[in-house]
Amino acid sequence: MTLTEELAMKVRNVPDFPTPGIQFKDITPILADAALLKRTLNILAAPFAGQRVTKVIGIEARGFILGAMLAEYLGVGFVPMRKEGKLPAATIREPYQLEYGKAAIEVHRDALTPEDRVLVHDDVLATGGTASAACRLVRSMGAEVVACAFLLELDFLNGRNHLTDVPVHTILHF
Ligand code: AMP
Repeated sequence: MTLTEELAMKVRNVPDFPTPGIQFKDITPILADAALLKRTLNILAAPFAGQRVTKVIGIEARGFILGAMLAEYLGVGFVPMRKEGKLPAATIREPYQLEYGKAAIEVHRDALTPEDRVLVHDDVLATGGTASAACRLVRSMGAEVVACAFLLELDFLNGRNHLTDVPVHTILHF
């Protein structure tokens, strides 16, 4: 079995969570398996080893987990991007469209500089609204988005269409 086949089998599909009709992709069984976690990190991080990344952004909340591990692997700092009102110091905010209504993500104002080359990470790429807002936020601070890295992509939602201006690296496709 290939690593991607093994990983695909480990993702737990939870029907109707958090709302009816959603097939939630739960990555916690991968996180709980020490050997698989290590191999997952290697395959997720390897393409960026030579790309002079200076910061990894993790998107709240599940993007924090592998995001911080990616940062450690690449030998760079980790920056959390959070839902509105969660970060304690001065922030910059970027609104984005949800299926119904609006949301916003925030990052600390002093977390990035124009010299930064940023890898944006979340566990799942769904509609792409969150990740594209994250990229806009990084760029609004003058920094460069090197790529977006996801463990899993829901192909039928075409999230990539919101990320046409940046390389997108995904391990698993559903
Ligand atoms: P997006 O629609 O791409 O903006 O995704 C919004 C957020 O919800 C991201 O953090 C995704 O990781 C998460 N998400 C969306 N759909 C799913 C799903 N079916 N299973 C797990 N996480 C999801």
